[in-house]
Amino acid sequence: MTRHDISPERIEETIRWRHHLHAYPELAFEERQTAAFIAGRLAEWGITVKDGYGGTGLVGTLKRGTSSRSIAIRADMDALPIIETSGVAYASKTQGKMHACGHDGHVAMLLAAARQASEMDFDGTVHFIFQPAEEAEGGARVMVADGLFRDFPADAVYALHNWPALDVGSVVARDDAMMAAFGVFEITVTGRGAHGAMPHEGADPLVAAAQIVTALQTIASRNISPLDAAVVSVTQIHGGDAWNVIPEKAVIRGTTRWFDKSVGDTLENRMRALVTALAEGLGCKAELDYQRRYPATINDPAAAALVRAVAAEGPALTVVDAPPSMAAEDFAFMLDERPGCYLWLGARREGANPGLHSPHYDFNDAIIGHGVNLWTRLIATSLGR
Ligand SMILES: [Zn+2]
Ligand SMILES: [Zn+2]
Repeated sequence: MTRHDISPERIEETIRWRHHLHAYPELAFEERQTAAFIAGRLAEWGITVKDGYGGTGLVGTLKRGTSSRSIAIRADMDALPIIETSGVAYASKTQGKMHACGHDGHVAMLLAAARQASEMDFDGTVHFIFQPAEEAEGGARVMVADGLFRDFPADAVYALHNWPALDVGSVVARDDAMMAAFGVFEITVTGRGAHGAMPHEGADPLVAAAQIVTALQTIASRNISPLDAAVVSVTQIHGGDAWNVIPEKAVIRGTTRWFDKSVGDTLENRMRALVTALAEGLGCKAELDYQRRYPATINDPAAAALVRAVAAEGPALTVVDAPPSMAAEDFAFMLDERPGCYLWLGARREGANPGLHSPHYDFNDAIIGHGVNLWTRLIATSLGR
């Protein structure tokens, strides 16, 4: 097994890549310049590139020796529709697009790890997956549907996310759930409009909507075991234009979160029953559009143990424990197909420490060496001779 930790000069170079990517953010399924930047470098280092995979995604493959062992490591490439206010010199050059989740850092670290790996001796195959559209569009699902693990077979698949809530150098790799499953819903309540002074002549969709919003809170509190996690959040209510007019329609939107599939089923079934019965009871009709978007991100215990062992090898990283997050991650679609591990790499800044998706956020370059070394040590350990 050969180790190949990144040099200080290469960390500086990786930071320059990261700043370039940060200045030119691209939204979901538009990551063409980003993909070209990655593909050009991978090819330079003799890594086979398959681009245009899963839309704007690409996969770099590095094979050594004769072993059929293989692993895959994924980085997400997309930015967010946010107006950047970080004030950094390399801030977004495109108004309204921003790398506010650190995917610029994830790409730079995996790219640097690929170069290190191209100089390492091992026995097996590594696939470097650069995935489009992690934020809400499910680029991982698209890559999987395109045949990702048929075309690039992997015994295990790994990914990381920078985590500003944890100290630099901390690693969390849980044996089970890391991130929740999520759904989105839209409820359209249709009543009968009337003069605000004569409500008895109509059927008020706003009163029905208010009852529905309140009743939805009973799902988590009355229908789900207190030992299971579930969230129902109403985040929008729209209806009405005038002081004195009862409108015909009201629209309610929101999101749900869960880990256990049976909890996800209960959330959807109870929501459907409540929405229909309450609206009808109040003389209105309700339509529910409910979509399950991402499954829960669940690690394989053996893969998680391997990540923790690799992290514990060097003095720079510390394995810590943390509860799972109710946020969601589309790497879940890859973990549904292959055993693997999704980990958090601590990225806390001293002083002001803007969170992910904040317009003030900027990926913390202090973790670049940690991320690269974690990946190359994982390759060395998984595919060592
Ligand atoms: Zn994000
Ligand atoms: Zn992210």
